[in-house]
Amino acid sequence: MSGKLLIIGFGPGSFEHITKRAREAIGESEVIIGYNTYVDLIAGLLTEQQVVRTGMTEEVSRAQEAVRQAKQGKKVAVISSGDAGVYGMAGLVYEVLMEQGWTREDGVQVEVIPGISAVHSAGSLLGAPIMHDSCTISLSDHLTPWELIAKRVEAAGMADFVIALYNPRSGRRTRQIVETQRILLKYRSPLTPVGIVKSAYRDRQHVVVTTLADMLNHDIGMLTTIIIGNSATKLYDGLMITPRGYQRKYTLGAETQPLKPHQRLKSEAEPWALEQLDEQDWDESMEEFDEEDELMDDEVTEIKEPSQLKSTPNLSPSNSLQLAMEALQLVSVSKGNEEVPFEFDEKLTATQSIFEFAVSPGIANKKLTAAQLCALGEIVGDRGDIEYSPHHQLIVRVQTNNPKQITSELSALGLLLSPIGDVAQIKACDFCNLEKGESIPYAEAIHHRIGNLEVPKELKIGFNGCGMACYGAVQQDIGIVYRKEKFDLFLGGKTVGRNAHAAQPVAEGIDPAELVDLVGRIVERYQKEGHPNERFHKFFKRVKEIEGYRHQEMVGFVIENAICGD
Ligand code: SAH
Repeated sequence: MSGKLLIIGFGPGSFEHITKRAREAIGESEVIIGYNTYVDLIAGLLTEQQVVRTGMTEEVSRAQEAVRQAKQGKKVAVISSGDAGVYGMAGLVYEVLMEQGWTREDGVQVEVIPGISAVHSAGSLLGAPIMHDSCTISLSDHLTPWELIAKRVEAAGMADFVIALYNPRSGRRTRQIVETQRILLKYRSPLTPVGIVKSAYRDRQHVVVTTLADMLNHDIGMLTTIIIGNSATKLYDGLMITPRGYQRKYTLGAETQPLKPHQRLKSEAEPWALEQLDEQDWDESMEEFDEEDELMDDEVTEIKEPSQLKSTPNLSPSNSLQLAMEALQLVSVSKGNEEVPFEFDEKLTATQSIFEFAVSPGIANKKLTAAQLCALGEIVGDRGDIEYSPHHQLIVRVQTNNPKQITSELSALGLLLSPIGDVAQIKACDFCNLEKGESIPYAEAIHHRIGNLEVPKELKIGFNGCGMACYGAVQQDIGIVYRKEKFDLFLGGKTVGRNAHAAQPVAEGIDPAELVDLVGRIVERYQKEGHPNERFHKFFKRVKEIEGYRHQEMVGFVIENAICGD
């Protein structure tokens, strides 16, 4: 009679989440070997099996005992919580077998039965935090040198993985989680959403959603799994949601999509794909995608046709919230026996989410007052952050359930607030300390007309009050220079990349009465006809002509590949 080893992952701990095969395997085994607590968790499934209970650090003797009994011809179940192949018993049993020269052909039979691992049970309770590339890291340094663990935390932080931390802390191991937080804060915002799940699907289940900065202020122990979001993960109604990247191709708040179904998988709609990155483009694309774009990828086959989507109410300045709403609308929920589309509930939005916006002292004014800075400092506090951007703006991120109060307080102090992301922004000079200010009303009128307009990709409109153009208007996507009471216009600057170039001069001496409408029409056409994520210079090159101005090829040269940081 030949024995058999059944290595069983029984999931998080509730009966509903044990697989059918795991139950059967427990039923058909003669001996059950497991850690005390685990045996208790599956006690309801036991019938006449002989039970070998062991303590926590006795995995090796457990594995040896299992192999010994199986060799005697018994059917032996070795149980692990979650999945037996994830920090569980599967590897160890095989290692003991290997040590004894076991072979698949002649040795005892082995079956590994998969289970739901803590990363998935915790993830399900937190919303949809995993969604994209992720990793698990155990912070236990009982068997793994801390240096190696720290290196993995560092690498995962750097590569923007969603991270599930197993064994985050025990009575004696308390520093590892502190150190892990410190390392991750080098790469991620303190406001990165973090989920702390204790005893998922067990009696004392406890779920907390917080931030990277705040995570250590909560109870973390041996039965906790921590999930740290990536740079795109959002907080929504107490849930963590990691976007998959649909916003690259889809305008998630719109009813009609700029890319029609037949265009969506075409290579020109995916300039970031490997196929598209020939030698020069690689360099360019790496520099062009901002961080968030770069870290998300997508697959389009499962999404519904645009006509099936409802438009999403514009609830927040962040597209990410819209993304979450869109995602929810793609889901059907059951009402009675019927499958109905998810209904948007306005009340859901009254929760703490991260409010991100840009602040500047004004279109022309470049000076901040002490009162404005104090108010900003107060609003941001210890938990939020303020980032100095290259675009004459401070980027503010703050967790709040009342963004309106923040905006009205800051606007009352004379600050100009704008949304972040793919919007048109006017970047004016300081008009020589407001001394050469004749053209300021035009800058303001342009801001009025198309400032903050949602466009396919962020669009900077440089505006200089004299021919010196010292604030670099001609380096922007669109450049406007006031000279001799008229305006010069420049289109299609490539603002980033090592082959960045100035915008093409397209017109001189434009009558001020025509300027605002002209720029408005240019931006509106880009808004309508640009592909999602297509920068203005690429759009100009593709459509060849805008408002009668013809695109001219810039003389370029080939530059070697480089990726960010090289
Ligand atoms: N094989 C298991 C992991 C064992 S390591 C699995 O695949 O899930 C033990 C760690 O798993 C714990 O420290 C905790 O981080 C995590 N864990 C296991 N069960 C859990 C549960 N029910 N809730 C939350 N975390 C759990």
